Amino acid sequence: VIKCRAAVAWALGKPLSLEEVEVAPPKAGEVRIKIVATGICHTDEHILEGLFPNVEFPVIPGHEGAGIVESIGEGVTSVKPGDKVIPICLPHCGECSFCLNPESNYCLKCHLSESQSVLPDKTTRFTCKGKQIHHFLWVSSFAEYTVIPENAVAKIDAAAPLDKVCVLGCAFPTGYGAAINTAKVKAGSSCAVFGLGGVGLSVIMGCKAAGAARIIAIDINKDKFAKARELGATDCISPHDFKKPIQEVITEMTGHGVDYSFEVIGLAETMVASLASCNMNTGVCVMVGVPPAGKEISIDPMLVFSGRTWKGTLLGGWKNRDFLSKLVSSYLEKKFNLDVLITHRLPIAKVNEGFELLCAGK
Ligand code: NAD
Ligand code: ZN
Ligand code: ZN
Repeated sequence: VIKCRAAVAWALGKPLSLEEVEVAPPKAGEVRIKIVATGICHTDEHILEGLFPNVEFPVIPGHEGAGIVESIGEGVTSVKPGDKVIPICLPHCGECSFCLNPESNYCLKCHLSESQSVLPDKTTRFTCKGKQIHHFLWVSSFAEYTVIPENAVAKIDAAAPLDKVCVLGCAFPTGYGAAINTAKVKAGSSCAVFGLGGVGLSVIMGCKAAGAARIIAIDINKDKFAKARELGATDCISPHDFKKPIQEVITEMTGHGVDYSFEVIGLAETMVASLASCNMNTGVCVMVGVPPAGKEISIDPMLVFSGRTWKGTLLGGWKNRDFLSKLVSSYLEKKFNLDVLITHRLPIAKVNEGFELLCAGK
């Protein structure tokens, strides 16, 4: 058993609390990882807001981490102690019908099909003050050590700087893949990206890499526009600057709406605005933001009947267990810039300050 620090969410709506936790050794098929760095994704904030009804408290959030294998359980063959790894959020068993489908990145044996709060054997590896602490997405990267099923861990290049490639655990592949894999953005096309956080900026990088001619970036926080422009946005607009709905503004700017639109915020109203912003017939709208729990969205069915496609994406559609090591190699070859996604560096003791910065749009 390892004693280490972790940021524990004891209850809904409460700030995280830094605790000493006990981390049990990995069981068969599991890996214990020393987490070196982790990003904060808005999904971690969504847990504290109660957007994931299946998450049980107390829980250790965090799912955008990078670290070093400390020890392995019986039967683990793909990694060994000392290997650098990134937890992949969505496991890949390699055997279920979805894993065998080259177009799917969802595994039927993942935590979204089973319990999200315990490991596959239905127990947890964390305890604190005599209480069982739950896992999040089988990652829980807000702990200095965590235990993860082997099939949810990707081995990466030993030269990778863990304090940077941690954002390859979620933000970058999600946004980049939403453009490349889910929307399949074509060269010369027009795109609209709603929400310019870490994930939305990564969507812009994906649209740019795919050769989009026009990229309209939308956010209520104008401080986000400089980075969006640096990454390839051609127009930056705030809905607060217009009297009419933003979808009408975008339709007028482009004639008939964009070819591809992306909602990267997680609000019902921007999901509908984003759908209505792509062109009525061949437009594709991708829902990247996590939908508000228990809320239904009502739309005019003509929006879809006329031909539009509305789809979602889980982590950008990549089969990350194979793909992440390639993404890390591309980063080491300077094929894309992750530094732009890193705004602050904080010690684990200041994790709540990190959430304040995220929520303040900083
Ligand atoms: P973030 O908080 O860093 O960024 C959100 C941005 O949206 C901010 O810049 C904010 O100013 C802007 N915004 C808020 N309300 C707005 C409005 N009404 N109109 C326009 N802009 C508005 O968040 P993030 O970490 O980039 O995550 C974005 C979303 O993506 C979250 O819902 C997150 O849970 C989700 N997500 C989904 C996946 C997936 O697999 N689909 C993966 C990662 C994150
Ligand atoms: Zn995330
Ligand atoms: Zn599977």
